[in-house]
This record gives sequence, C-alpha cells and structure tokens, in this order.
Amino acid sequence: MRTKIHLLFGGKSAEHNVSLQTAKAVMNAVDQSKYDVQPIYIDGKGLWHKGALLEGKVDDAKLLEYKQADESVSPLTLTETENEVVFPLLHGPNGEDGTVQGLLELLNLPYVGNGVLASSAGMDKIAMKAIFAQAGLAQVHYVGFIRKEWEDNKENVVKNIEQTLNYPVFVKPANLGSSVGINKATNREKLIEAITEALQFDRRIIVEEGVTAREIEIGVIGNEEPECSVVGEIVPKTEFYDYQSKYEDGDTALIIPADVSDDIYNSVREMAVKAYKALDCSGLARMDFFLTENNEILINEVNTMPGFTPVSMFPLLWENSGLDYPSLINKLVELAIERHEEKT
Ligand code: ADP
Ligand code: MG
Ligand code: MG
Repeated sequence: MRTKIHLLFGGKSAEHNVSLQTAKAVMNAVDQSKYDVQPIYIDGKGLWHKGALLEGKVDDAKLLEYKQADESVSPLTLTETENEVVFPLLHGPNGEDGTVQGLLELLNLPYVGNGVLASSAGMDKIAMKAIFAQAGLAQVHYVGFIRKEWEDNKENVVKNIEQTLNYPVFVKPANLGSSVGINKATNREKLIEAITEALQFDRRIIVEEGVTAREIEIGVIGNEEPECSVVGEIVPKTEFYDYQSKYEDGDTALIIPADVSDDIYNSVREMAVKAYKALDCSGLARMDFFLTENNEILINEVNTMPGFTPVSMFPLLWENSGLDYPSLINKLVELAIERHEEKT
C-alpha cells in the first residue's frame, strides 16, 4: 500500500517565506513513484488550506495554486487512512516549536522530525541553553528575561546584563530563527535599542556575550542512535550571519567539509550527539557551534527543522556524507514511521 505524505508548509511565523522555498524543493524531490503527496498550506493567520494531490513538477505558479487552495480544513480532520506520514516543513513558532507536533501526537500520526519536547526546548533559546548547561556543554555566557521584567525595571535588567556579560552582546528574541530580530550591541544605548526591537517578536529575550569565532555546523539524523554528517563552516560577508546574508544576498560562503582538525571534528561530533540526546531529539537536527581562536568549541544552538532547500547547509552536509537530497527525504520519512511504530 502506498504511503501518503501530508506536506505542511507556510505557517504562522516570521519564517513563513523560508518555508515556501523549502516546500517547493521537497515537492520536486520527493519520490512520487513511492509516495502520494498532499500539500497543505498554512497561511499567515494559521488557517490550513488543502489543495490537489501533488502531480509532476512544481514551479512558482503551481505553488501559488496550492497556496490559494480554497478548501480550508480543520487540522483535526487530517487523518484519512492508515498509511500516512506528516512532514511539517515549518520553521519557527507555530510549527518548529512543538505546537504542531503536539497536535500530531494527539492525532496519533507519524511525523517527520522532532517530538514535542525537543521542538519546544530547541525553539526557546533560554530553555535550550539551560538544558545544554545541565548536560555540561560549553557555551557563551547569557542572560534571559521576560518583557514584564523589562517594563518594570529597565535599569535593573541593564545592570544585570552589564555585570554578567562583556560588550559586544547579541540580543535575540528567545523563540525565533533565521536571525529575525537579532542585533549586535556594542554599548548601552545600542543594547536598549536592540532589546526594544527584540521585544517586538517575543516576550522572552536572551542576551549573549559575543564571541569572535568561526561558525561550524553539523547535521545529525536518527532516533535512538543518531548519526553525524561531516562538518560545514559558514563564512558570512556581513558583520554576522543575519537574515539578509541567509536568504537575500546569497553572498555567504558555505564550506563543506570545513577545514578543521580530526580532533575538532571528533569533539564537535561528540558534543552534537550529547546535545541531541539531552534535548531528546529525533529525526533530524542541525547543531551549530562557535570555534574560537583558542580552539574552544561552544555550542550555539540546535535547529530542529533546519533550512532544507537543496542549497541549504543541512542537505549539503548530508550530500557530502553520501546521502543525496531525495534519499535524505526518504530516510526522514522512514525514521518518522520507525519512531511511531516503536511508540505504539
Ligand atoms: P538563529 O536561530 O536566528 O539562527 P543564532 O543564535 O544562530 O540565531 O544567531 C544568528 C547569528 O548571529 C549566528 O549565526 C552568528 O553569526 C551570530 N551570533 C549569534 N550569537 C552570537 C554570539 N554570542 N557571538 C557571536 N556571534 C553570534
Ligand atoms: Mg536557529
Ligand atoms: Mg542560527
């Protein structure tokens, strides 16, 4: 019996457009001789639109058709037959953060990628760093706070930040990705500006000490026995790896495999697996690290639904490790089914 893949894309998130690019690429790479694919577009308000079954190649016009599909469906009616898998190709809040995953758990459907715990803990940089600290993983110094603390006593929050961290610092909304709302601050005035901006995206804020470091990333796939890809390096042309350098000017160099010693590679791998297990990841994750001038390895973050177009770091890491894009998609679907069967 053929398996049906429900491909969720779009999403109520600042990373909506990133998901559209990913979805098109996956639709074009998925093995249509093996799977029936049902695209489901989630609009900016969070409504689900179910279009026709996928057939042939998808260009921008076709994608628009799926986006404009009239039929608005309740997520609760997702399940139809027995052989179904959901592939949430969603980045950021309301998709990568455990909310959709919780819904799919309740519906008892197998789905690609991380479960509720890993998704939610991985989305919230404050929770993620607390778990990393508990697992003994080295990372930058940071301070987390909520909007109410800021509104009640800005001086106190600033004082606490300046006592704990040295400038420059990075100010981030705790629950986002793609560098949205992130700014580097070199003094108090910039810090206050950056916090004000970050608060437009989230009520939880994290401020981190800035490090001068190479940015090293590794792909991990698997459930109980995670496997690692080769490592890659990001060399942004801008001051840091911001939204523009990620998606707009394409000027960032991705070096795969990264030029690091075997010792560094082994340590990155070990830390990545430790982080994967600490968060109870499954399916896939991209683990990002800083490699400082003193060869210190600090974990920066986990991405539980990393950028996933054929020219994104995660698929390229796997391609360089012997798993091409269509095979990677197959593998993730298989891991989803395997995890579901182990659970039930
Ligand atoms: P996102 O989840 O949005 O990708 P990151 O925490 O990875 O957020 O930050 C985005 C980018 O900002 C990083 O890739 C890096 O270039 C820069 N950056 C973030 N935090 C730091 C830091 N503490 N020190 C130096 N650079 C940082
Ligand atoms: Mg991220
Ligand atoms: Mg990042």
